[in-house]
Amino acid sequence: MTEWSERGAGTSDRCVVVGAGTMGLGIAYVAAGAGHTVELVEVDRDRGAAAVARLGELWDRAVGRGRLTADEAAATRARLTVHAGLAALAPEPAVVVEAVPERPELKRAVLRDAEALRPALLGSNTSSISIGELAEGLARPERFLGLHFFNPVWAMPLLEIVVGPATAPETTAAAVTLAGRLGKDPVVVRDLPGFATSRLGVALGLEAIRMVADGVADPADIDKAMVLGYRHPVGPLELTDLVGLDVRLDIARTLRAAYGDRFAPPPLLEAMVAAGRLGRKSGQGFYHWVDGKRAGAADLTGLAS
Ligand code: NAD
Repeated sequence: MTEWSERGAGTSDRCVVVGAGTMGLGIAYVAAGAGHTVELVEVDRDRGAAAVARLGELWDRAVGRGRLTADEAAATRARLTVHAGLAALAPEPAVVVEAVPERPELKRAVLRDAEALRPALLGSNTSSISIGELAEGLARPERFLGLHFFNPVWAMPLLEIVVGPATAPETTAAAVTLAGRLGKDPVVVRDLPGFATSRLGVALGLEAIRMVADGVADPADIDKAMVLGYRHPVGPLELTDLVGLDVRLDIARTLRAAYGDRFAPPPLLEAMVAAGRLGRKSGQGFYHWVDGKRAGAADLTGLAS
């Protein structure tokens, strides 16, 4: 514990983010905006270049909307660098956030490499993999936990902090402090499948899909019922379209294995994924999507049997 206080989170402001996809670039953007020196690591050269371009657009937009002055944007931009690998980075950053694809073996390998940098805090942005499972093979699992951000990271206030079986209380406290610095509002949850957000969100989404199949109402009215009747900002079917039906199906299968048939994927969800109707990203889900915007009802004929 002595070592901890000598090198706790906050002794450096360096934040390493591994993976510059949807989530990693969002985390990097927020961390740089919060004053961290950010090192964004991406193995795919094209994805790295795309992330740099997208970050530039985000800073330009912030200036255009008057949220940052041009000087502030330039200073924030200067705090962020992109790297092809972890090996060349200096040791002992304050935090490493892993945001590579949702594959346990890949994540474990990245986390082992990241741990070699001896960060004060090591976090995974996994949305469904057990933190205990990801900690296998780590020399210091007490410094590791889940840092589950939401998409888009700059707009979503929640940080779900997932405490693994070996996570030390100091690590959880450091993650709560980090959340505050990043302007996020944290919840601290135990490492059980689906954590808090996916377990509840998917339960609601699956029931809404069963209601479509049962003919209770059409998707727009089921969503409207939750938006107007329960003050949800977006209905469960539209949210399923935004997240991706394939992503939700994968999580439902994981949760069914953990909790039983109450999470069994509805046949309608299976049929829609098999038909390539994945929601906004494919242009068709429970709604029709044009240029990323909801554009009317989708035709579910032949699917909702
Ligand atoms: P993504 O596919 O958009 O990005 C992942 C990036 O990691 C890719 O650019 C890939 O090239 C890169 N990568 C792969 N191996 C790497 C390595 N060894 N080193 C460095 N970079 C590497 O994925 P995403 O949607 O950003 O998701 C990342 C994580 O965040 C996943 O665990 C996912 O479950 C979780 N998550 C996603 C969302 C979401 O809405 N997309 C929300 C919350 C959590």
